[in-house]
This record gives sequence, structure tokens and C-alpha cells, in this order.
Amino acid sequence: MDEVAEERQRWLQAPYRSYLYSYPHKTAYRPLEPALPLEELWKGEETDYYFLYMHIPFCGARCGFCNLFTLPDRRADVHEQYVDALERQARQWAPWFAGRSFSRFAVGGGTPTLLEAPLLSRLFDIADRVMGLDPSQASISVETSPDTVTEERLHVLKERLTDRVSIGIQSFVEQEASAIYRPQKPRLAEEALERLMAFEFPLVNVDLIYGLPGQTPESWLYSLEKAISYGPGEIFIYPLYTRENTILKPDQIRKQGTDIRLELYEMARQRLEEAGYTQYSMRRFSKVNGFAHKRILPFSCQEEGMVGLGCGARSYTRRVHYASRYGVSQAATRSIIADYVAAERHDQADYGFVLSEAEQKRRYLLKAILHREGLELAAYEERFGSRAMQDHPELEQLLRLGLAELEAGVLRLTALGMAYSDAIGDELISADVRERMEGYELR
Ligand code: SF4
Repeated sequence: MDEVAEERQRWLQAPYRSYLYSYPHKTAYRPLEPALPLEELWKGEETDYYFLYMHIPFCGARCGFCNLFTLPDRRADVHEQYVDALERQARQWAPWFAGRSFSRFAVGGGTPTLLEAPLLSRLFDIADRVMGLDPSQASISVETSPDTVTEERLHVLKERLTDRVSIGIQSFVEQEASAIYRPQKPRLAEEALERLMAFEFPLVNVDLIYGLPGQTPESWLYSLEKAISYGPGEIFIYPLYTRENTILKPDQIRKQGTDIRLELYEMARQRLEEAGYTQYSMRRFSKVNGFAHKRILPFSCQEEGMVGLGCGARSYTRRVHYASRYGVSQAATRSIIADYVAAERHDQADYGFVLSEAEQKRRYLLKAILHREGLELAAYEERFGSRAMQDHPELEQLLRLGLAELEAGVLRLTALGMAYSDAIGDELISADVRERMEGYELR
């Protein structure tokens, strides 16, 4: 085997290594000693537009593949106490953002629509009246689930000018849904989607998962066709990941036989493109690129200036990423939420990651390269005063191996590179961040 083929094989041997939805990953966060006063941190953050995020860490039940910060708890009084705490935090943070503008607002979790309609509405009050969000100028996105998407809640989202509603369906096949501990009747998912589509939000996203236990190419296509038939503007397709800390263990998946995720990905990619969706990343396929119904303020894809309210929310300044502590087990999540609800003050960052210049560059590169937009070399140089190709010799490798191409000063993944995004992203993690991630002790 020649050198290039060998190198290529190393990059391509395992397509599904890790999903880098943020960099550095939260398992690389550690206690910040001394803790950083947040007021100082935000005062020095020169960003024109901010991203407001609220995290609602409750779900009806925990799905078998989920390692997000969330707790199965449907109790209304628990939700209310939590929103009280979130409002307290917002009131303490709001003065630092006076006179600054939010161009994005997202509510995620967990399942935000597990909150009853009045409490859901209160989140928007906190965003508008406390944090100073102007909903007519910001893009607003909310996550939901089939069992919580009621008319009453959808009315709240509509009245509060939500632009994008994302619903996690995962599969329209009952056995596949129950295999991931998501006891969801296909009829319920279909009715939920019908209800949601009837509200005519500017953008509806449907999440699907491939590589589920028992899933076949035929059953995957069935779910995909079902989703397409409702005409959502966006479809996210996620490969199934299982970890030692998820309910569904990696061994349980391996027992099912060969890994057909790459085959299912390719089928979906072709079908979605035929159906008029454009691929924006390995997971995101969309018919919508920007909104005409609102004059939304500009925002950066780098997601700096992200102000995360709620327990489990991350906040990003250019130099410091911080959050509350992270856990997956019920006991750990419950105790972290209890500490958050009991806390009087939220004015210090005591857990996170301080990004060196090298890590800032790496983050910029990763955010750009794993998306269709690609890495604009001149923009990188303007921002950092150095050249991306010199700072990151791995980029030459990507070009040599046919995983990326360079055109008009923009480095983009090829179709092959896009399919292997989770290998490429993983390969680009710095040694320091990887060491921290591997040394993380999950609770
Ligand atoms: S995947 Fe979504 S709905 Fe399922 S437990 Fe995780 S956050 Fe909750």
C-alpha cells in the first residue's frame, strides 16, 4: 500500500468517532481556579450581536442513546422552581448586556415543551423583558417532542414569533423507537407532526436517527420518506452513538451485527438531495437558507457571545467557555439541578475551559470546516494574523487524501470528507483537549 493510501485508511477506518457539536467538548471543562467574575468577563467581550440560549433540563423519560444534561421529571412544581431560578439568574446577568443586541434565541434541553404553556410563555417574558431580546429582530428556535407538542404550547410559540421548531422523531417504526427506550407510537409521531405543520412556522426541523437496533435500509428509507412527506424545511439525520454512560451500551449495538450507518447515510443523502434539500453538514439538510419574514440581525456562525441561561447551558466568550458541572446519571443531574435552584448568586464562572490562542484557532477551524460554508482562508488570516494552512498542517493532509478541496480561497470538505466529518472532527481535536476528555470522570 502506498503512503497516501495508508494515510487515507487511517483517517477512514472509523467514520463514527465523535460528534463535535462544540469545541472544546464539555468533558474537557474543569474547575476554574480561581473562579472568574462574570461581569468582568462579559465586559471585555466585544461582539456586536449575542446569542441567548436557555436550557430546560427535563424530559418525560431518558432515551437510550442520550448523554445530554437532562433529567426525567414531569412534575410541574419542579419545573416552576427551575424557571424561578432561571429568572433569578437572568436578572443578575441582564445589566451586563444592557444596550447590546441578541440576534438569536434558542430554547433547548431536554424537552422545553415539557413545561406547561404558561411556564413556556414565561421563558419568552424572561428573554424579552429581562434580557432585552427584540423578538422581531432575532431568529428564535425551540426544541420539542411528539408527546409534548400540544396546540396550547404551539400557540405560545407562534405568538412569541418562533421561527424554527425542531421535533425529535428519530424513527417512525415502533420497534426501532422502543429499542432506544422511546416508547413512541408511530401514530403519535405522525399526529404531532401534522399538528406542528398546521401552525405554519417559517421552519420546521425533523430529527431522525440511523443505525438504530433492528433498523434496515428499507425501514430507514420508510422513516425518511415519512418525514419528507410532511414537507419540513429541514431534516437532521444523526448516526446513532452509544457510550458507556448511555442506557444503550455499545455492546448491545455491536451484537446486532455489522455497522450499516455509512450505507444508511449515503442512501439518505441521495434521497434528500433528490427531494430538494441542500446538504449543509453531515447532519443538516435544508431547503431554507435565511428568513424573509423578519429582518434578523446578523450573527456569527462561530457562536461566540453565547449567553447560556439555566443549568447545563454553556456560555461562550471568545476566550472562556463555561457552564455548570455536567453529569448524565440521574443522581448527578438531580443534584446539579438542585444546587442551581438553591443558588442565590450566579455571578462567577467556576467550571469551564480557558481557550489559548491556539485553541481559539482550532475552534474557528472546526466550526468552519465541518459545514458547507467551509474555511475562508483570508477571513482566518484577518482574524488571527496567521495562515490556517501553516497553523494546521492536517489541512494539507485533508487535501492530499481527497477529503477536502480548495477553491477560490475556501477550503471545503468533499462529499467523501463530509461523510467522514465525525472522523475528521475527531482527528482535529488538540492533544490537550483530548487528554482532558479522556481523563474526564463522568458522574
Ligand atoms: S434525546 Fe432528547 S428527548 Fe431523549 S432524553 Fe435526550 S434530551 Fe430528552
